[in-house]
Amino acid sequence: MGRLEGKIAFITAAGQGIGRATAVAYLAEGARVHATDISARLMDELKDEHPAIETAVLDVRDSNAVRQAAARTGAVDVLFNCAGYVHAGTILDCDEEAWDRSFDINVKSMWRTAQAFLPAMLAAGGGSVINMSSCASSIKGAPNRAVYSATKAAVLGLTKSIAADFCERGIRCNAICPGTVDTPSLEERIRALAGDYQDNRSAFVARQKMGRLATAEEIAHLAVYLGSDESAFCTGGAYVIDGGWSL
Ligand code: NAD
Repeated sequence: MGRLEGKIAFITAAGQGIGRATAVAYLAEGARVHATDISARLMDELKDEHPAIETAVLDVRDSNAVRQAAARTGAVDVLFNCAGYVHAGTILDCDEEAWDRSFDINVKSMWRTAQAFLPAMLAAGGGSVINMSSCASSIKGAPNRAVYSATKAAVLGLTKSIAADFCERGIRCNAICPGTVDTPSLEERIRALAGDYQDNRSAFVARQKMGRLATAEEIAHLAVYLGSDESAFCTGGAYVIDGGWSL
């Protein structure tokens, strides 16, 4: 029997990387999975490969669309807020638009989904909210991740607030704080850097004391745990999964 048997899960940014790996892992563990992403192409590809996953296009910046998705889906047991965007640069490279865009996609999106999904979750007796943060947050300063780290630190504050406010009513809320994960967007970020591709990739790898990147599937294992009843005593946590980067 799967560890998420009988549970309904809703995931944002499930088109690729960690969100997609989690959608597939949740399905394998017996959940009914609602996978969403801004990209229709990625949702079509996921549906083709895993017809049992419900897919829909959803831009987490669109409050109306988020509310409609919550109304359509009804009560869920697991809400995994995975959407996030990396702005590369120091505070001097970050203009007002990049600042606002980063907070909109990475933080305000979680306010939107939590506000839309929580009432039905509370009415149903509870559930697990999982927010995607990062080691680059209040945990560790990383070069050229100024606004990104600020947003991911804010995610930890939001996570603890949701956990504190709704603990007695059956809602658990935890954050995942990965180190560097081998995903399509990481590959894009490495390719966008000046200099030699292999040197730049090696620099990202070297940050992890284990000398390798995480796979998206390894992060999905933690998302399975936090979504399942095995983590029933966990709330308000910031779960570091970083191959030793933050040591
Ligand atoms: P990714 O960046 O490769 O893919 C992101 C997905 O989000 C894509 O499918 C994209 O279409 C979708 N997306 C983009 N904008 C969206 C929007 N407005 N609404 C809905 N979907 C949208 O995936 P990843 O690297 O696995 O990152 C997923 C999450 O994990 C992010 O929050 C990221 O900050 C976090 N994270 C990643 C790493 C890493 O090294 N990859 C490390 C720590 C944290």
